Amino acid sequence: MMAVTNVYCVGRNYKKHAEELGNDVPQEPMIFLKPSHAVCALDGGTVELPKSSGEIHYETELVLRIGRAYTPGVTVDEIVASVALGIDFTLRDVQSEIKAKGHPWTAAKGFKNSAPLTEESKFPGIEALKDVWFSMTKNGETVQRGNIGSMIFDLQTLIDHIGERYGLDEGDLIYTGTPEGVGPTVSGDVLELFWNDEKRGGCTVG
Ligand code: ZN
Repeated sequence: MMAVTNVYCVGRNYKKHAEELGNDVPQEPMIFLKPSHAVCALDGGTVELPKSSGEIHYETELVLRIGRAYTPGVTVDEIVASVALGIDFTLRDVQSEIKAKGHPWTAAKGFKNSAPLTEESKFPGIEALKDVWFSMTKNGETVQRGNIGSMIFDLQTLIDHIGERYGLDEGDLIYTGTPEGVGPTVSGDVLELFWNDEKRGGCTVG
């Protein structure tokens, strides 16, 4: 896996997912960060997750790898080098607690191994991506299925928003948000990620 620099994540970028958690649909992209140590490989091995911090949810997401510095006017096809599928693991009980207190999300979203990632492949371009359905199975059953056509903020809007406010450069990752169907996972679950019908990676939850 290439070295990771910044790990940006987008919250509530699919309407049905915002609604399933009882959240308002945002008026502008909602961005949070994870430490680079959150990233690990979905290469069929075990991904160790926290054991005693309440419920852990999976969120299946399309992940973009940035290939060059952001400059105003740059297009998605020009700035994105590769694409992968990832999971934004979330300690949901911890998140509810810190949301209520108004604390930052790091404890709920930034723990070690909270952003595992499949192998990357060359970015096929926005047009080709419209025909891709990404999905995840848990113990063989499909639990989430998404397509960029259902995003509230499209990839160009996300790139411009993040690039202008926070900066984007080679090596940065963007987890672009999860479609509906998030749910709990426990030790021993087998999670597998698919790009249309092609398996792209997976793990056993440790
Ligand atoms: Zn997410």
